[in-house]
Amino acid sequence: MPNRALFLNRVTHCLARLSRREELRFAVLFLDLDRFKVINDSLGHRVGDMLLRSVSGRLQDCLRPGDTVARLGGDEFTILLDDIGHDSDSVEVATRIRIAMERPFHFEGHEIVTSVSIGIAPSNSTYTRPEDLIRDADTAMYQVKSQGRAGHLLFDKTMHEHALRRLHLEADLRRALERREFLVYYQPTVSLATGRISGFEALVRWSRDGRMVFPDEFIPIAEETGLIEQIDTFVMAEACRQVRSWQSRWEGDRTLSLSVNVSGRQFRSHDVCPRIEGILHATGFAAGSLHLEITESVVMEDAARSRELLVALRGLGVRVAIDDFGTGYSSLNYLHEFDVDDLKVDRSFIDNMGKERDTVRIVETVIGLGHGLGMTVTAEGVETLEQLRKIRELGCEVAQGYLFSRPVDAAAAWELLEADPCW
Ligand code: C2E
Ligand code: MG
Ligand code: MG
Repeated sequence: MPNRALFLNRVTHCLARLSRREELRFAVLFLDLDRFKVINDSLGHRVGDMLLRSVSGRLQDCLRPGDTVARLGGDEFTILLDDIGHDSDSVEVATRIRIAMERPFHFEGHEIVTSVSIGIAPSNSTYTRPEDLIRDADTAMYQVKSQGRAGHLLFDKTMHEHALRRLHLEADLRRALERREFLVYYQPTVSLATGRISGFEALVRWSRDGRMVFPDEFIPIAEETGLIEQIDTFVMAEACRQVRSWQSRWEGDRTLSLSVNVSGRQFRSHDVCPRIEGILHATGFAAGSLHLEITESVVMEDAARSRELLVALRGLGVRVAIDDFGTGYSSLNYLHEFDVDDLKVDRSFIDNMGKERDTVRIVETVIGLGHGLGMTVTAEGVETLEQLRKIRELGCEVAQGYLFSRPVDAAAAWELLEADPCW
């Protein structure tokens, strides 16, 4: 197959022709297989290679003889549609490709179903360098991925602006780490048996030029760029230090638990165990009081590997919770094999309890499921006394939500602890 150099060469020719005859149109498509890594990791590189070969075969079948398909590397392909009538023609080709790829592939007794994400950069007279067309098609492809994969999109300028903003955000995040602009906020968790604070969940905040930035705005990019590992490590270390110091100053007779969120990246990093051990050692925090929260979607992705990782984590003596339960797709088969202590029912369920009759039954069922598997159950996002009454009645052990307190800074959390309220 043509490689990147040959592909660029052909696009250069098209650009040269375009400069002589404005009415000529062509398009560059950027195509990426969805979840290729999973296929490669689970079925091996040999099957991965067969798949790539078959994909390129199907691609050729979708094109005309004058078009060019190149492999950029990995599971990335670029396509040059030469001399097309209208931009909609390139969309048509993209659709055809997607349909062709949806037919299952068969190798060595495995049936593989895959999908592709395609970005399209239509030619125009402002392009002078072939790389820019590939870049824009790539940007559009990226947009498809971030919207949930398996689709195609035409590039437009706002995507470029969006990509630039991301780039700046990434640079700012790096600087924020150096300048220590991240803060840890604390939201109490309440034991429903006693009605008192049982611990805190640490939630990261970014104080950016005097404005408070919430995790939803920067965690996804921190995940992508890998910066999340440093953020998570900082949050865990800082929160362990803080809660440990509260514990030693506090007159209360209970041991405080601390929940921290562990990103998918952190969960799967090869040195997650020694890193957590190091933090526990450095801060003197008791392993048994540390709860690691991993979201349901992260745990269920590559569930077999997750199972091993969970065993290793629990080997450190810490507790593990599945966060945002109900928002992902749990395989019940795996759920019962997972070494997990706590299930956190996503706040959308608690929120809907008063609005939709069936949601109460769903919450009841989830609590029963958790208990049946030997887990304790936490309700997230409790905002009203009515919700509190309901989840208490349903046998939930722990609750968290604005009813008790919003996430607050360390000073306010300490005040709350000293006030020792009871619900
Ligand atoms: P999460 O772990 O499920 O945390 C609970 C989120 O729900 C928090 O949002 C909290 O402020 C919010 N919340 C709590 N009670 C209520 C309530 O009663 N009503 C409503 N509407 N919301 C409530 P926050 O702090 O914006 O964090 C959002 C998410 O970002 C977290 O969801 C967690 O997944 C992630 N996150 C936060 N801090 C970290 C961190 O240090 N590392 C990683 N990897 N992720 C983090
Ligand atoms: Mg959480
Ligand atoms: Mg949650």
